[in-house]
Amino acid sequence: MAREFPLDKIRNIGIIAHIDAGKTTTTERILYYTGRIHRIGEVHEGGATMDWMPQEQERGITITSAATMCFWNDYQFNIIDTPGHVDFTAEVERNLRVLDGGVVVFDAVAGVEPQSETVWRQANKYNVPRICYVNKMDRTGADFWRTVDMIRTRLSAVPVPIQVPLGSESNFKGFIDLITMKSVTFTDEKGASPMISEIPEALRDEAQQHRDTMVERVAETDEELTLKFLEGEEISEEELNTALRKATISNALVPVLCGSSYKNKGVQAMLDAVVHYLPSPIDIAPPVGINPDTEQEETREVDDNAPLSALVFKIVSDPFVGRLSYIRVYSGTLKKGASVENTTKDKTERVGRLLRMHANHREDIDEIRAGDICAAVGLRNTFTGDTLSDSSKPIILESISFPTPVIEIAIEPKTRADQEKMGVALGKLAEEDPTFRVNTDQESGQTIIKGMGELHLEIIQDRLFREFKVEANVGRPQVAYRETITRTAQAQGRHVRQTGGSGQYGDVWLRVEPNERGKGIEFVSEVVGGTVPREYIKPTE
Ligand code: GDP
Repeated sequence: MAREFPLDKIRNIGIIAHIDAGKTTTTERILYYTGRIHRIGEVHEGGATMDWMPQEQERGITITSAATMCFWNDYQFNIIDTPGHVDFTAEVERNLRVLDGGVVVFDAVAGVEPQSETVWRQANKYNVPRICYVNKMDRTGADFWRTVDMIRTRLSAVPVPIQVPLGSESNFKGFIDLITMKSVTFTDEKGASPMISEIPEALRDEAQQHRDTMVERVAETDEELTLKFLEGEEISEEELNTALRKATISNALVPVLCGSSYKNKGVQAMLDAVVHYLPSPIDIAPPVGINPDTEQEETREVDDNAPLSALVFKIVSDPFVGRLSYIRVYSGTLKKGASVENTTKDKTERVGRLLRMHANHREDIDEIRAGDICAAVGLRNTFTGDTLSDSSKPIILESISFPTPVIEIAIEPKTRADQEKMGVALGKLAEEDPTFRVNTDQESGQTIIKGMGELHLEIIQDRLFREFKVEANVGRPQVAYRETITRTAQAQGRHVRQTGGSGQYGDVWLRVEPNERGKGIEFVSEVVGGTVPREYIKPTE
């Protein structure tokens, strides 16, 4: 059977943004314009949704990363959701690993925000080609050019505006497309049919200057174009697009666009830019892994007929089908009902169902081919970061690296009878989330959970209640110790056996607080520097 979508017509992309920049709104508009949802606002009203967890809707943040498929013109898009909150950067990182390109959304008022810098650095690490979308052009204080400047200075990137906004703030009407040199304005409320017209006379010179700058930047990345540019020859729209695509994919520059997702202006042009400038699965480096038999490095061809290599990038417990594993297939074809090798764990797994996740429904499919993303049911021993391959042609793709959790709290069920249930639930949550850990403190017997930040652990507590019906209390661990300390030892203070104040253990300074029972040190509230040998902080009973 021929593929429905040739590889060059697939775009695996992430919408990457600082919290509040408008990722949810932009994603929702994408689903609207691509016909996946039928009413603007549908996502927030529940039902069809990218932000499907109740906590996300209540808190207005995106935590889980689903991969949702939609079509734009003749192209298949898999949109991999990436959370915007600092506690979830590990999640962002694992998703960056499996996507081929990103749309980075900025708030035109705030410009480049601290979290944008974090995700930008993460995207650099995985060489993810990007386009920038300066959203919220309708807001008071919106400034496209300042945001472009910040992309240059704060992110050390080479931003190349390919649009110039027409009007700004409440007067934001649309943009001048510097490639086609036409003006694009939005007259109907839903922005469904943008109006394309000549650039107003008064703006022509300015637009031409911006176009010249753009052409110069693009030409700098391409020898042939440089020559043409220097000789003053006309560079065609096609030549420009080809060179821009090449330069974007090689991360030499980032095209910048503008819009207001909320006011339905600019989203379609952004989708066109995804098609034009972001890579398909065959435009990026082919997958490389280690053959576990020979321990030699191998490269796989991005081809349906090549041996299977696929990376599991997310596990979720789904209320309907149970354990759902999101998979990116790099080479070969994964079939429903097939036996595959989890090469990382050295276990054979059977793929039950394969599901294509649409915004408002899921579709059972028989197979998924190279370059594509779907979710599988039935993989029991597979975890995030594991490789699936043919047993006769094993390969282990580079796994996803996860940072070590940074905070920890003690947790106990409100009613003792829930202790076992809580243990099972926490175990399940830890299976889904490699940056969440659970263990029992040997000395105090307390259950300790560790995560990436307060919000992360709050959400765990919330999910315990909602999904597993376990109400739990959290508190500071009775014995808090941290094995690795980054700050240097400097504190002065009294010996630690005196309660309160600070103390020195070997070369480590600790700030301690009285033990609740009034004996020795039970609680070390802060480690000021060095590495704490565990025996030093045993309660002195
Ligand atoms: P996320 O946190 O990045 O997912 O951001 P949201 O999409 O939830 O948007 C955050 C807030 O900004 C919401 O109140 C949106 O209605 C608002 N917003 C999103 N896009 C725009 C826009 O283009 N213009 C204006 N004025 N507000 C917007």
